[in-house]
Amino acid sequence: MEDKIEILKKLVAESNNIVFFGGAGVSTESGIPDFRSKDGLYNQKYDYPPEEILSHTFFWNNTEAFYKFYKDKMNCLKYEPNITHKKLVELEEKGKLKAVITQNIDGLHQKAGSKIVFELHGSVLRNYCVECNKFYNADYIFNSNGVPKCSCGGIIKPDVVLYEEGLNHETLNNSVKSISEADLLIVAGTSLTVYPASGLINYFKGENLVLINRDKTDYDYKADLVINESLGNVFNKI
Ligand SMILES: [Zn+2]
Repeated sequence: MEDKIEILKKLVAESNNIVFFGGAGVSTESGIPDFRSKDGLYNQKYDYPPEEILSHTFFWNNTEAFYKFYKDKMNCLKYEPNITHKKLVELEEKGKLKAVITQNIDGLHQKAGSKIVFELHGSVLRNYCVECNKFYNADYIFNSNGVPKCSCGGIIKPDVVLYEEGLNHETLNNSVKSISEADLLIVAGTSLTVYPASGLINYFKGENLVLINRDKTDYDYKADLVINESLGNVFNKI
């Protein structure tokens, strides 16, 4: 394991065009549960399955129930960035890391200080009135009673990609562009089973693909370096 981390250190030292692609595993070390893990949200009991509650149809048909669940389970404001988030900020400040692409919606990369972050699934930190498009921060949403409303009376919707909704084209294009230009792609904390993660890494044409994940993934065979270790343990040493 130490040898592998030494190799990664060397790759990072030699590259000036690193892109980091992260999944739920990046946030679990900050205490945010992974939805898909065996103790995660999807295996808890609700009146409806979480996949249904977090869908476009449910948002519009059962807005009150959506927000009850959302405020109860999706409030990320109490969590803090961990060592992985912080090391990525350092690498960006040194000019080595060109982009963070994340499947997480907790905003922890920005909280840590990362500047270029492409959030494939949106962010709980951004919320907009569906009528007039006025912006509202997460505090406003999570401290509201019932369905959060705009000063104009419109319903406020989180800028989070719900089930049945497509990804933001600009975010996706920026992600594809940065991956295709990178010479070192670090994919971490994702099992790569969820769209679009699996498809995106196929755009990588650079020298070194590194996968860091606690468990093995179906893409391990494609990688130049696979590290099955917790992210914190790896980034602590980089
Ligand atoms: Zn409004």
